[in-house]
Amino acid sequence: MSEKSGLDESLSARLRCPHCRSPLTLSASNLLCTLDSCARQYPIVNGVPVLLNEDRSAFSIIDFIGHGDTTFRHQGALEQLFARLIPEITANYAAPENYSRLRQELLALNPRPTVLVIGCGEVGKGMQELVDDPVIQLVNTDVSYGTRTEIICDGHDLPFADASFDGVIIQAVLEHVADPPRCVDELQRVLVERGIVYAETPFMQQVHGGPFDFTRYTCLGHRRLFRHFDEITSGATAGAALALAWSYQYFLLSFVRHPRSRVLMKGFARLTACWLRLIDPWIVNTPGSLDASLGHFFLGRKNAFPLSERQIISLYRGAGNILPDPASQQRGRDA
Ligand SMILES: [Zn+2]
Repeated sequence: MSEKSGLDESLSARLRCPHCRSPLTLSASNLLCTLDSCARQYPIVNGVPVLLNEDRSAFSIIDFIGHGDTTFRHQGALEQLFARLIPEITANYAAPENYSRLRQELLALNPRPTVLVIGCGEVGKGMQELVDDPVIQLVNTDVSYGTRTEIICDGHDLPFADASFDGVIIQAVLEHVADPPRCVDELQRVLVERGIVYAETPFMQQVHGGPFDFTRYTCLGHRRLFRHFDEITSGATAGAALALAWSYQYFLLSFVRHPRSRVLMKGFARLTACWLRLIDPWIVNTPGSLDASLGHFFLGRKNAFPLSERQIISLYRGAGNILPDPASQQRGRDA
């Protein structure tokens, strides 16, 4: 299959039908499900297999046949100019250290680890260290064509055999999927025993993916999403100061409708709020900021035994602890 399709041989062996998870075989320029009762065909477009379960996906295979665009990543000339001239109101203070830790964990698990990247459209912030490492094989997937996309697939139905990967990266993706728990179940399925996951997901960040934007998570909600994983580290990617900058930007945007006015307003918001980037590193890990972070990360190791709900709430690290402290309970009993 690999020689004719141009697909890497080890990657081909891991591919499965996204409908029924049966092995696939190459037929002309398509991948064909080997299960007779399924027998679905999936096209390979310019060397990129399009492996979608159309029954359960927001995307259709036809969207990708003519290289149709399925994303909202366009920037006009004015927006590009602002992006070059005005500092961003987005930052990720945790990613470089987290990716170094992820690399160490992967190499401890396997000297030549294979890592699935879900949503590889752009190299994620802090991810370059992994991209540059010759012993780490990244399998880049997305629901759009990008310079790095090797497979078009949907995180809800990953077209891979069980236990195919040592690691999975899902950075700034789970807010854009309809059913995050199902995606986490899927990435857990394709991970080997004790496999590593790295996730980043926004919290106090406004809608930024057009219609493909569904969900946000508190720090604890994000932990609960990965309750089948032991935590290696977790926290905020950016704190309450940049959350304020985003909120201020979207407050201003609520007064304008025209696309060009929105671009100008975004530029104004960035220009007048970018100073908040200087504040954020000082507060990003405070309990109060964790309750109002721009986004959260989780680095963890697959575990067959999930955390209980009681264990999850005991992990709360924010400032709003409403559980009575034992000393005040005792004083109440003594009174
Ligand atoms: Zn099938």
